[in-house]
Amino acid sequence: MHEEIPLSRPDITSAEEECVLQALRSGRLSQGPFVEEFERLVAQRAQCRHGVAVSSGTDGLHLVLRALGVGPGDEVVTTPFSFVASSNAILMVGATPKFVDICPTSLNMDPGKVVEAIGPRTKAILAVEAFGNPTHMQAYQTIAARHEIPLIEDCCEALGTTHRGRACGHYGRAGVFGFYPNKQITTGEGGMIVTDDERLAATCRSLRNQGRPIPKPGEHALGTWLAHDRLGYNARLDELSSALGVAQMRRLDELITGRQRVARGYLTRLMHRHELILPTVDEGTEMSWFVFVVRLATGWGRVERDRIIASLRRHDVGAADYFPCIHLQPFYRELFGYREGMFPIAETVSQRTIALPFFTRMTDRDVGFVVQTLELMLERELLAR
Ligand SMILES: *Cc1c(COP(=O)(O)O)cnc(C)c1O
Repeated sequence: MHEEIPLSRPDITSAEEECVLQALRSGRLSQGPFVEEFERLVAQRAQCRHGVAVSSGTDGLHLVLRALGVGPGDEVVTTPFSFVASSNAILMVGATPKFVDICPTSLNMDPGKVVEAIGPRTKAILAVEAFGNPTHMQAYQTIAARHEIPLIEDCCEALGTTHRGRACGHYGRAGVFGFYPNKQITTGEGGMIVTDDERLAATCRSLRNQGRPIPKPGEHALGTWLAHDRLGYNARLDELSSALGVAQMRRLDELITGRQRVARGYLTRLMHRHELILPTVDEGTEMSWFVFVVRLATGWGRVERDRIIASLRRHDVGAADYFPCIHLQPFYRELFGYREGMFPIAETVSQRTIALPFFTRMTDRDVGFVVQTLELMLERELLAR
């Protein structure tokens, strides 16, 4: 008997345990040195000057949109092919997501369609690096600059990825990372805003902390604790989670090497399967690999894909349909009247994706077993045609 191979699994060692214990024993459980160190480490990795730790990636996106003054009546150009949080953050500030279809290779927004979608009400572009792929980020940067609107980078799936030495997180006016347990590093729950814009960072710091003013140098935090400059939130990340994040960041290179090894294992084993489209990585891109998502070739559909995922799960192989299109989620249909066929590329891609088990500790044997099981399912589907 073999054990179940999960879709993902965090990589926690004694280094993380010790760091969290140190925070726990310090007596300081919120707004302390681990938050600061974690902010420094993530900002540095993203080649940004400031990091603002928050309680989730979703909160990070929400605070950035608020800080940039995006609100009711505004439109934000974004992708329908993403985890729902990227677009929900836009709804949270009362603005409207203006979806544009994706490019079938990179799975990121088609830059030409981004240009077409920009109108007088467009207040920002919120670009997602789908599965951590930074393709077109420079194009969005140029478009945003030309229209004098900010680019927000949802780099929640891209920590540690670089393109020609330039890190994900630095492309936008602000970037946002997420640290849910399936990401490259985890803090349990958590997120980080990164930016070069000092004022934006300060506003986000205030918004995450009940709208409190930022204490001036030399000023005691208690002096400003009951002052509230604006409507804020409690989106602080605690010291324990930040300590976990610090230990994970110190191991980031090791974690990325592990992910690259597993990705290579899949790529070499699946290369010859003409029923599958494998992830495309641009020349010059060093992926940190958030997930490993294959997709059935054109001509296959949702029925076959769903059957394959169900059989993989029956064989103890974790698999998932990353991602259903956001515009087709029930409340988006209801709110905006979206229907099938409105973003055809995102829809046909999304109907054929299969996320395979993917985590640093996957052995070569695990990868072999997943591939063998997937191949069995493909053979079955071929026979049934
Ligand atoms: C993970 C993720 C987020 C943030 O998720 P949280 O669970 O709120 O940390 C946002 N956008 C994308 C594209 C993601 O993958």
